[in-house]
Amino acid sequence: MLSVRGLVKRYGDRTVLDGIGLDVHEHEVVALIGSSGSGKSTLLRCVNLLEELDDGQVLLDGVDVSDPRVDADVARRGMGIVFQSFNLFPHMSVLDNITLAPRVVHGVPRADAELRGRELLARVGLADRAGSYPEQLSGGQQQRVAIARALAYAPRLLLLDEVTSALDPELVGEVLQLVRELAAQGRTILMATHEMGFARQVADRVVFLDDGRLVESGPPEQVLGEPEQPRTRQFLKRII
Ligand code: ATP
Ligand code: MG
Repeated sequence: MLSVRGLVKRYGDRTVLDGIGLDVHEHEVVALIGSSGSGKSTLLRCVNLLEELDDGQVLLDGVDVSDPRVDADVARRGMGIVFQSFNLFPHMSVLDNITLAPRVVHGVPRADAELRGRELLARVGLADRAGSYPEQLSGGQQQRVAIARALAYAPRLLLLDEVTSALDPELVGEVLQLVRELAAQGRTILMATHEMGFARQVADRVVFLDDGRLVESGPPEQVLGEPEQPRTRQFLKRII
């Protein structure tokens, strides 16, 4: 479904992604791991076309969506992205946060958008919080709203960037549980995570990035349990 080919991204004269090749198949959950600064977020942002590529391609269902002639807004509708820091609009209710883009950008009538918005809130366990404002919610609840918002277009691919790393430890579980449910429903997910236990449980495949390069990729039990590459071994030794 997603195919990243020869992806190069530079900031100034720093090469942050250096020829990344990665496929994510339908219904697959792929976890990106690697040290801070290894390029995980940049890779997700490039896939979501939030960054211009310096070389390479991003293909979605065989269509090169990184081609400048492709309308990035249209391509992005096939993907939902959730960031570490929720990024909810503070002055809007939870329901408005979820329905804003469908209504304003895509012209979905308010009633339809709200019906769908309430369904999504129910799905993330927040049916009774539609009228709340973000500041009235816990971090975990805010992140669940952000996930509901990413699901608003029924995206075929969900991109999750360290969705639990800004949360207090006691709130991490509820968000991981939601991701676990989405995975169990057969969603296609590419997620950056530093939760190795979670990656091992939920991911079909783990991909280790180091300094902008894809070093190792395989089933969690292999990459996390018996890594082949010395760099991967060093990384795991450091974090465990
Ligand atoms: P973390 O685990 O800390 O989230 P990461 O693996 O997500 O790290 P990235 O955020 O992708 O890493 O950053 C990769 C490299 O790109 C880093 O060296 C970072 O400083 C650099 N970088 C990221 N965004 C920019 C930017 N907008 N301008 C310049 N450099 C950037
Ligand atoms: Mg990051």
